Amino acid sequence: MTQRLPILTFHTLDDLPSVTSFPPNLFRHGLRKLFKNGYRTISLLEGADCLRMKKSFPEKSFVITFDDGYETVYKAAFPILQEYGMSATIFITVGENGNHQDEERLPSLEGRSMLNWREIQEMKRLGIEFGAHTLTHPDLTRLPRDRMEMEIFESKKIIENTLCTPVSCFAYPYGRYNDSVREFVRQHFVCGSSDRLGFITPTSNLDTLERVDAYYLRTDSLFHLMLTRWFFWYIWACRIPRGIRRTAENILR
Ligand SMILES: [Zn+2]
Repeated sequence: MTQRLPILTFHTLDDLPSVTSFPPNLFRHGLRKLFKNGYRTISLLEGADCLRMKKSFPEKSFVITFDDGYETVYKAAFPILQEYGMSATIFITVGENGNHQDEERLPSLEGRSMLNWREIQEMKRLGIEFGAHTLTHPDLTRLPRDRMEMEIFESKKIIENTLCTPVSCFAYPYGRYNDSVREFVRQHFVCGSSDRLGFITPTSNLDTLERVDAYYLRTDSLFHLMLTRWFFWYIWACRIPRGIRRTAENILR
């Protein structure tokens, strides 16, 4: 058993030079290496339950998450996850329309093609978990309170009604939250995922779970650091410039 759980965050799997892109080949090689070395995924909810019940995490376990709901998650990532019997949580931004046709796609982000509801249903049937990521992907800290609550609550309801399953996990768009956003998420979800760089440890907060953005694993050797104790220290070192950047962003806002 271990006191540290990495939650990996991916967005889209493709070879474009974008900070949200992750190369599909590297995803396949990385997961194969982890699998061959005895690493297994647990669901985000299982990780959150360990934290809630103050239990250690299973040895060699990690969590995979995808933010936004890009079509490449179905086309490129899902077959690889199935090949290695791995699970994932996909946080989807669902749009304001609550009545979905199977072939209807989620509203486009960054001009990219998104998942349609048939693909979402199929992945859900095969063990993929879905979490809420608002209706329109706003910075929740800049919205009036009623709109902020609607973005969070209605996105949860739309997924629950469409997939006929409870939605317990939320991810903050752009990783941005304040006290009232956090409080509302705490009332309606088991856990909230932030983009704060780090591992889940016994001192983590359920409503602002740390994650490791796949941006930091964009070469074979970086991905393979996950197999070593250096992974923790590498991520710890990456936090320093990011923390300074975030502070500067907050001052300039
Ligand atoms: Zn997002």
